Amino acid sequence: MDTWPLAEFLISAGPSVWPGHKIHGHAHMIKDGTEVPSFLCRQVDWLALGVKEIKGRAHDSYTRKANSSYIVVARRAVRILNINSFTMNKTLFSLLLISSMGWALAPALMAQDKLDSLLPVRSFCIDAPRPVGLDSFVNFIERELAPRKVNTLLVQIDYHYQFSSHPELTDSFALSRSDVKKMVAACRKNSIRIIPQINMLGHQSWANRTGKLLQVYPDFDETPWVKIPEKYEWPNADNLYCKSYCPLHPGLHPVLFDLIGELCDVFESTAFHAGMDEVFYIGDPRCPRCAGRDPAELFAGEVRILHDFLARSGRELWIWGDRLLDGRTTGLGEWEASYNNTYRAIDLIPKDVVICDWHYERADKTAVYFAMKGFRVLTCPWRQSSIAIQQVADMVSYRNQSTPEMKSRFLGLMETTWSRTDMFLRGFYSVPNAATPENTSWNCFRAMFQAIDQLR
Ligand SMILES: [Zn+2]
Repeated sequence: MDTWPLAEFLISAGPSVWPGHKIHGHAHMIKDGTEVPSFLCRQVDWLALGVKEIKGRAHDSYTRKANSSYIVVARRAVRILNINSFTMNKTLFSLLLISSMGWALAPALMAQDKLDSLLPVRSFCIDAPRPVGLDSFVNFIERELAPRKVNTLLVQIDYHYQFSSHPELTDSFALSRSDVKKMVAACRKNSIRIIPQINMLGHQSWANRTGKLLQVYPDFDETPWVKIPEKYEWPNADNLYCKSYCPLHPGLHPVLFDLIGELCDVFESTAFHAGMDEVFYIGDPRCPRCAGRDPAELFAGEVRILHDFLARSGRELWIWGDRLLDGRTTGLGEWEASYNNTYRAIDLIPKDVVICDWHYERADKTAVYFAMKGFRVLTCPWRQSSIAIQQVADMVSYRNQSTPEMKSRFLGLMETTWSRTDMFLRGFYSVPNAATPENTSWNCFRAMFQAIDQLR
């Protein structure tokens, strides 16, 4: 039998671990710089293999902060191994681990899947359900997401929540606290990390409707002179796609922080998705605060403000990636990438922001760009099944063909839906027929998770 006098133990459970909850990740043995797949870890009798010393290290991103998530990961990892002698290459972790007690984690690790080593994050993104459809959506979590091993659920809330900090910003069809808790409970039961979203910066209007924030606080509008038309058309003289808020308005962030904090608390979330996609209005020359400023610096400044606010409570910031891609050089479109000079913000924002890199028409390989810049990244398909299947294969390939440093940044995939939740569910449960378009988000959802299932 092979013996490993010194085994390095790589903790890679981070993105889906949070305090008080079950561990989702996986563990590797590393021997001579090569990882042993996590599923072997379950079957190895470590002591019988001659492991005398455990050297623990966590992914870069998990050692940056000493929040309790990482303590849970590390502590439990030690429990699994049941080995008293270990060293940590992070002093902080050593201090935390030495105080760890008990040896109770084995069942959790036993439940982990080979899938976790291939694609650590398997995510689904959808609009907030309406209150009347809440139970149907909770059923969907139980019956469809959990069996497919979805482990992250992004819910686009915006202002459809009954905010107690700012009741004036509560929009129509708003979920109550108890509605949200039903989703949270279903997710917890099925080991799904739930993350709420409110669109920040852009997407403050849609077609002929001004969003709730600018309805209530019109002073926050970056372009108040642009009137929302009765009948929206693109293109238009104002280049109006969606309104933006002015990131330099002095009254803005106290309001946003209240909303974000309240939403993260009720969702018991360890991350918040701030949207920040498709921002067309930024640094407008007529804005008294932003005129003459660099759009990249404005965009990065807003990312940093939100990031720093979340970091104070140990939470991650997730954003869409399109404003960080150079549209003209890459040939990517005006929505899918930036033509308004925000893309240099990629070098100005904190590296622990998680990037949701969406591409719906081609399997563009931009995830590699984000990972090489130091970001953790998810590839996000929408409604073309063949593209999603290719993106699954690409993500597995990126992970397989990368250094450990890069590999840890390729988190996985997130299926997006972009329709009302009830419409998605109706399509999902409808019987396919010749009149049903093939390229729908529900078909893509099925195809993507089938492709992922086949990896097991
Ligand atoms: Zn401004």
